[in-house]
Amino acid sequence: MKKVKKLLAIALSVTAVTAMMAGCGNSDSKKSGDSGSKVLIGSAIYKFDDTFMTGVRNAMQGEADKQGVTLELVDSQNKQPTQNEQVDTFITKGVNALAINPVDRTAAAPIIKKAKDKKLPIVFLNREPEKADMDSYDKVWYVGAKAEESGKLSGEIISDYFKANKGADKNGDGVIQYVMLQGEPGHQDATLRTEYSIKAIEENGFRTEKLAADTAMWDKAKATDLMKAFITGQGLDKIEAVICNNDDMALGAIEALKAEGYNKGDAAKYIPVVGVDATAPALQAMKEGSLLGTVLNDADNQGKATVAIAAAAAKGKEINKDTIGYDVTDGKYVWIPYVKVTVDNYKDFMK
Ligand code: BGC
Repeated sequence: MKKVKKLLAIALSVTAVTAMMAGCGNSDSKKSGDSGSKVLIGSAIYKFDDTFMTGVRNAMQGEADKQGVTLELVDSQNKQPTQNEQVDTFITKGVNALAINPVDRTAAAPIIKKAKDKKLPIVFLNREPEKADMDSYDKVWYVGAKAEESGKLSGEIISDYFKANKGADKNGDGVIQYVMLQGEPGHQDATLRTEYSIKAIEENGFRTEKLAADTAMWDKAKATDLMKAFITGQGLDKIEAVICNNDDMALGAIEALKAEGYNKGDAAKYIPVVGVDATAPALQAMKEGSLLGTVLNDADNQGKATVAIAAAAAKGKEINKDTIGYDVTDGKYVWIPYVKVTVDNYKDFMK
């Protein structure tokens, strides 16, 4: 009896696997004229050593596995010439679509031209090419998030804190004295988050004074050094808020504050710090109380949408909500919404 069951089980699983294999090939080739398993997407990421982009990469890989397409991810090591060579290599290899996170978003034109010459679909992500470049080819898309929105939400977090804590205006002058740690110059997220966070604070009825602002290039260690310089230059007692264009820099700034005994639990020694991204270590810092708040920059959906577009376009499909599962604006843009993350809801984002 046991033997019969075993044989039956083997027979069933062989049938199932055969059916699955046939199913995959057939359904895809019928719908698209191409087999899913044959789709190869070449993707170059500005640098692997970036916390947020690591989340995006993982999501891209997960989606590729789910869709049964092959994704080749390479590290452009923050060098545009390296990325240009990687694109050449992908094209020589015969990829069916490109997914590019440019090192320099203003250098997208030559990459688009290479794709256009081969009629290859190309999806940019996280670093938005200029409009003229986006308009230069009908098979180019962009996946990202509206940076204005993240700036606004982080400004609201600071405003809410000052409304609820009158003593946060340490010198009682009715003005929020802040320092700003900015991302890479030229990155749309750095420029717009900086601008819109302050706008939101002012729209909430506060006056602001910028004590100091500089770039820490999205980087935690650089942010610690920069924050130390701000503390030395301004004096800790003068700084009332620390606004950071991303979480890695917020966490770097917190290191510098902690070295001075701040943001370690003593309510008298606390300066509100905000970031953007909602990375795992940032959520942890919110849990321990050293980080006031952040904004979810949805790495999962940005990664998924990128691969969904690349795979669908590689199969010759139109790009719309039915084919990729995301709204498409102006035929070219997929905008993934930001979400405000505070002490009230941070647990919902912990994985
Ligand atoms: C993220 C940063 C990241 C950058 C990379 C931004 O959207 O907020 O954390 O370093 O993208 O381009």
